[in-house]
Amino acid sequence: MLETLRELTQHESPSLDKAPADQCCRFLADLWLKRGAIAEILQNEIRGNHLRVVWNPPSLRLKSQLLVLGHYDTVYPIGTLGKMPFRISGGKAYGPGTFDMKAGIVQALFALDALRELRAQVQKHVVFLWTSDEEIGSTTSRRLIEEQAQRSDAVFVLEPSLGPRGLLKTSRKGVGEAHLTVHGRASHAGLAPEKGVNAIHELVAQIVRIEKWNNLRRGVTINADIVSGGSRTNVIADHAEATLDLRAWRQADMRTLEKRLHALKPQHRRANLEIRGGFDRPPLERKHSAGLFARAKSIAKSLGFSLGEAAAGGGSDGNFTAALGIPTLDGLGAVGDGAHAIDEHVVIDTMPQRAALLAALLAEC
Ligand SMILES: [Zn+2]
Repeated sequence: MLETLRELTQHESPSLDKAPADQCCRFLADLWLKRGAIAEILQNEIRGNHLRVVWNPPSLRLKSQLLVLGHYDTVYPIGTLGKMPFRISGGKAYGPGTFDMKAGIVQALFALDALRELRAQVQKHVVFLWTSDEEIGSTTSRRLIEEQAQRSDAVFVLEPSLGPRGLLKTSRKGVGEAHLTVHGRASHAGLAPEKGVNAIHELVAQIVRIEKWNNLRRGVTINADIVSGGSRTNVIADHAEATLDLRAWRQADMRTLEKRLHALKPQHRRANLEIRGGFDRPPLERKHSAGLFARAKSIAKSLGFSLGEAAAGGGSDGNFTAALGIPTLDGLGAVGDGAHAIDEHVVIDTMPQRAALLAALLAEC
């Protein structure tokens, strides 16, 4: 597993760099082909190609399918390996993208090996989908993910687990981004202040209003994370804008927040508001993961370890599949730490354990 992880990590695969991402995709396809699975590279014009792998277990009467989902892209630009090489130290494997989520892909590969070698009686087709743009919002993969999920009885997401105990992610917040632009009217701040409409003042008033929608107890948050506006001193600002981060645990809260946002009215009667965006990823609600988690927990127990669960404030592609009502279990990937950081790593001796867990889930579901 380590050797495969080393090779996979050394195929750098930034979301924004198609040529190296494609090479990584090709490398992955070959790994599955060697195991007798059907690997289909799905051409993508702007981002790395996506990879869809189908494994048909030898059983005669196959019913429907199971989906194993993940992404091979990383947030690291080409050349990161120079300052952050793949290395093993103190029972951990370090390197860009190891934790998020190349070790998860390796675990899935070895889960398949286990099923084949043990001739496990898997009753369903198993589709592995490895996408190239999760880290930048899954724009080119979302439809594909949803299409595959619709045909599946369950979705297993190989995103990293949470914390040193490797908790699975049984709920995730829905996440969105909105842009609030204010159009005012420029005027000389000294000579004709009465003719101006200050877009920055209007934007500030709107942000003060929006801030009150935060409800930490319910997990509803809205934050202005980037603001800009104005052109120079002595000119009343005719333009200002804010980028807003939106999050919610519940679909209903997500809809309410979007509705309120799009219903904003200017406080200054001559200002104009323009509101774009909303939630990109709906929440992954626990009701869609509880059944699978209970099963995973009992499998883990029989394998000799205990499995916990957690709620995550960030989204993943599992949010899309759960929102369709398909049972989804997320955080089944690596145990480790340092996602998107210089010390990103996985705990090596948990890898076979987690692979075994996935294999058993695929055999039982
Ligand atoms: Zn990830």
